[in-house]
Amino acid sequence: MAWAEIIGHEFAKRLLQTHLAEGAVPGAYLFAGPDGVGKRRVALEMVKALNCAAQGPRPCDACPACRQISRGAHPDVHLLAPGGASQQIRIDEIRHVLGRLALRPFSARIQAALIDGAERLTEEAANSLLKALEEPSARARFFLTTARLSDCLPTIVSRCQLIRCRPLPVEAVARLLREQGVAEETAEAAARLSGGSVSQALELAGRWPAYRELAARLADRSPSAWLEGALPETRQDVARFLDGLMDWLRDVAVTAAGGPQWVRQRDHAEALRRAAAAIDLDRCLKLAWELVSLRESVDQFVSPRLVASLAREKWLELQKSGDTSIFRSPERDSEK
Ligand SMILES: [Zn+2]
Repeated sequence: MAWAEIIGHEFAKRLLQTHLAEGAVPGAYLFAGPDGVGKRRVALEMVKALNCAAQGPRPCDACPACRQISRGAHPDVHLLAPGGASQQIRIDEIRHVLGRLALRPFSARIQAALIDGAERLTEEAANSLLKALEEPSARARFFLTTARLSDCLPTIVSRCQLIRCRPLPVEAVARLLREQGVAEETAEAAARLSGGSVSQALELAGRWPAYRELAARLADRSPSAWLEGALPETRQDVARFLDGLMDWLRDVAVTAAGGPQWVRQRDHAEALRRAAAAIDLDRCLKLAWELVSLRESVDQFVSPRLVASLAREKWLELQKSGDTSIFRSPERDSEK
């Protein structure tokens, strides 16, 4: 049935089905896990199960309630997500949903409020939600999701049944990509790089040639490829550029630590081995942290281009570190 169609999340599915079977469904759930692993999907499956009209296993995916919820068209399922310039969930939005939940449902047995990005609730919004999370009406349930559990207010977390959604297995992500028409080789590689996130893998597959070009530049040990190549301009492209640098550093560090099975960019294994043989792991870590902080600044920084050129500068600084450089030239190798 529909539960079986959800890939991964075995623990979450078993727990939710137990709650259903025992008729002990908590007032509020908080699904925590990386973006793109299917947190909302699991939550919606539970909403369907609570409202499904079938006599047998629920959800049936065939009754009117199941179909309406699957289409995102059920009048008693209320969705909230961060919005506006501040990307927050405001108190008036929470009040609006609470007001709706206080009324009789149109057709649902259980009304549902799905709140994505629970870490983006303003403090006032969160406070206005606490009582409802603790003592929801018998005809309403809350489903919160977050990719940043540590940023969620403890008052919210403590009132929810926490369900952790882990990254999906690489093979499962690759299969989903192939089903969406992505070429086999790209599907495998993008799935490995996605860290178990379907949305990230799809995004990566959609710009695969550009990603490959960046990886080729990173594999090239000559600094001229870096100094002569154009830098990205837009916030989105700069963010992708930094993600690409971090992917590469991650693989260099994994190779240096002797874990080839964990390498994601396998077609650059030789370049990674060369870089790993020359690397100073401390420098690599230091650069990784600097890139993380640059990555966080991309959304606020006045000029994304400045972020990109700072990142390039830091990358090239590694080259200056002589024998410990990940760009160590073949000539210098042979002098040893
Ligand atoms: Zn149904």
